[in-house]
Parts: sequence; C-alpha cells; structure tokens
Amino acid sequence: MNTHTTRETAPHHIVVLGAGYAGMAAAVQLAARTGRIKTPATVTLVSAQERFTERLRLHMTATGQEVAELSVPEMLEGTGARFVRGWVTALDADARTVRIDDDRVLPYDTLVYALGGVTDTAAVPGVEDHAFTLSGPEEAQALAGRLARLGSGTVAVAGSGLTGVESAAEIAERHPELDVVLVGRGEPGAAMNPRAGAHLHAALDRLGVAVRSGVEVAEVLPDAVVSSDGEHIAADVVLWTSGTRVSPLAAAAGLEVDERGRIVTDTALRSVSHPDVYAVGDAAAIRQGYGVMHGTCQGGMPTGVHAALSIVRVLRGRQPKPFRFGYYHTPVSLGRDDAVVQFTRPDDSPRRICLTGRAAARYKETVTASPWPTYGRMKKMPASGAFWPRGGRFTRIRGDR
Ligand SMILES: Cc1cc2nc3c(=O)[nH]c(=O)nc-3n(C[C@H](O)[C@H](O)[C@H](O)COP(=O)(O)OP(=O)(O)OC[C@H]3O[C@@H](n4cnc5c(N)ncnc54)[C@H](O)[C@@H]3O)c2cc1C
Repeated sequence: MNTHTTRETAPHHIVVLGAGYAGMAAAVQLAARTGRIKTPATVTLVSAQERFTERLRLHMTATGQEVAELSVPEMLEGTGARFVRGWVTALDADARTVRIDDDRVLPYDTLVYALGGVTDTAAVPGVEDHAFTLSGPEEAQALAGRLARLGSGTVAVAGSGLTGVESAAEIAERHPELDVVLVGRGEPGAAMNPRAGAHLHAALDRLGVAVRSGVEVAEVLPDAVVSSDGEHIAADVVLWTSGTRVSPLAAAAGLEVDERGRIVTDTALRSVSHPDVYAVGDAAAIRQGYGVMHGTCQGGMPTGVHAALSIVRVLRGRQPKPFRFGYYHTPVSLGRDDAVVQFTRPDDSPRRICLTGRAAARYKETVTASPWPTYGRMKKMPASGAFWPRGGRFTRIRGDR
C-alpha cells in the first residue's frame, strides 16, 4: 500500500468564448503555451459553429462564391484544447460560469471573451425587417440566394464604409445584370490619400456602381431606402453595412462596458471590473495612445495572442505586459482583380504610399488567406504569432512601462 500522499494542484480552467479571428488566436496560443508550464491548465473554446467564418470573405459568400471549409475542431486537434459547440446565453461573472443554449454550464478560472460583433440592425427603422446584412455566413448566403433569383433590378448597399465599398464592388462585378447604388453619409474612401481614393472611385465607376454620398438614411422600406430629407431611393434589395453592435452578455453580467457595449480593458486586456475576464477583438474597448481601437482582423488577432501571453505570464507568477498595437494598412477589395491598399501610420491615418490594381488584389488575397495558416504555425511555434507593429510613440499611453 502506498502511504505517500500526493498533493495535486487542481487545473486552472481557461474558457475562450468565440472562435473568430481573435478567439482562435487566443485558444491556439493558450493550448500551445500552457502545455509548456508547470501549472496544470485546461483550455476550452466555445463557439456557435464548427466551421470557421472568414468574415473577410462574407461579401464573396454573399455573391455566391465558394469559400474554403475550415474546421475549428480540426485546427485544435493535437493541441490539447477542447472545442464545445454551442451558443453562449449567459455569463455569471461572480460564480465564474458560462451558460450554453443546451443548458450546459461551464466553470472557468480565467475567461477570454471574444464574441465579436454583428451589424447593427436596430439604429434605423426598417433595417431589421427589410434589409440583408453580412453579420454571418447564413445572412450572406441568404443575400446570395436573393441576388441569384433577382434577374434585374436595383441593389442598394447602405453604408459607405469599407464593407459597403467591398460589397458594392463585388455585387456589381458578379451581377452585371443588376444596378448597384452605394448610399451613405460619407464619401467612400474619404480616409485614404487622394491617389488611393481616386483609384477606389474609378473602380466603382468602372463597375457601374452609382455612388450617392451625403445621404443620411432615415428608414428602409420593402422597396426603397428613404433619406432624412424624404427622398426615396428605389431598391429591390437593400444590403445594410453600417454600424456594428456587440452581444449584450458582458453588460448583462455586470462587466464594465463602453457606450457601445464593448468590455473596457486595462493595458493587459483584462476587464477593468473583472480582471479574471480578458476581452479581445471587436468585443473589447482597448485604449491605445491614439484612442480606442476599432474592429479589424489586423488588430483582433494580436489582441488574442496578447491575452494568451498575459494569462500564461500570470500562471507563472509574473506580471502581464501592456498591449501595444499600431495599424499598418487598409486593404480594400474592388472585385476579384482589383483592390486598393492604403498603407497607414500606427494611428490609422493614411500615408502617401498605396498600392492599386492587380498587385493590390494579390496583396489583399494574401492578407485574407493568412489567418488560418498562421494558427497552424502557432500550434508548433507559438512565438511565430507574436509579431505585430507596436506603434512606437503613437500607441504609448502615459504611465505605460
Ligand atoms: C464583409 C467584411 C469585410 C471585412 N474586411 C476586413 C478587412 O479587410 N480587414 C480587417 O482587418 N477587418 C475586416 N473586417 C472586420 C473583421 O472581420 C472583424 O474585425 C473581425 O472579424 C473581428 O474578429 P473577432 O474575433 O473579434 O470577431 P468575429 O470574427 O466576429 O468572431 C466572433 C465569433 O464568436 C461567435 N459568437 C458570437 N456570439 C456568440 C455566442 N453568443 N455564442 C457562441 N458563439 C458566438 C461567432 O459565431 C464568431 O465565430 C470585415 C468585416 C466584414 C463583415
């Protein structure tokens, strides 16, 4: 009989919510790094679907183009991380549990909140009932089906931001039988340098996209977009791309959120009210020297990696480091063979340098395709995912180390 008593440390349970760009980065990094430390830890990734959604390609899905089948459980194979498919319905930040739609309850010691965001359909009347969105693959497929059946008519793309521009160009290229009008408050490409902006406008013109800027959309009807001064812009189909909203789960759980419902983080990406919750990607309000980061894949993946690094440092008894991120580019597709890449300063303001045409289209495709192989590399070499521009003086916050 063994008279020795072994004191086993209970494993530290890390749960990652959301298998998008940021959540995947966090889960793969955590799985790769927690296997190399003394403290036993489990990693569980919870998300609505097994198939990874390449949000950067949703405008392609919306025009009937096939995109790759990428399996989240397959990517996690061999890492030790567990995948749980389910829709998160509640978070109890005091009890440190997460509830999933089939009434399973998952306990956590540390949570990584990476639930992203969806198109805001509530801000303008009629959007919820009459407009399509690119919130997810089902929504994009629904639009693809509608466009394929339309035959002729007008598609109004509401929102002249980059998602609106990419969508209008893609629809016009794939459906030359349809009239496409891009309607929005601002001038498309207004944040770019004059050469990049001119290329963007010339491409929209070449594709036959009518641009209606300076229009504040007040309502969406079944057959029109109505401006704030009462003009009806006839449309058989409306695609709404303006504004995003995040899940109400964090606010409902009592976490400190900003005016848009995003979790307010400290420099290590921990919730300022609940430090055992890390927030990353579009669901987080992360302050840098230039202001609060806006939702992008280029910034989202580094936030996931950094949260994982912070968690591992804490498990090792060290202090997490401050997160720093500087933007470097804005690649915008203009159909499949054209694009414009605006290179930026770390605060996202445009530099003079830009890329246009086929070379830009190749650049954009390389960027769009890169996250999945990046996760694959990180499984074996986690350090390979830890490179991104820190942004120098642009991102420094007074008091940062
Ligand atoms: C058409 C389009 C083009 C874009 N182009 C670019 C671009 O060129 N460059 C760029 O940098 N950014 C681009 N973006 C923005 C970019 O896609 C987002 O910033 C990025 O996806 C944010 O990553 P994330 O991990 O925070 O969220 P997401 O990628 O949205 O992932 C969130 C995950 O959480 C899951 N989820 C959400 N709620 C729940 C729940 N309650 N329960 C379970 N699972 C849940 C979702 O299913 C999803 O898997 C584009 C967006 C769109 C729509």
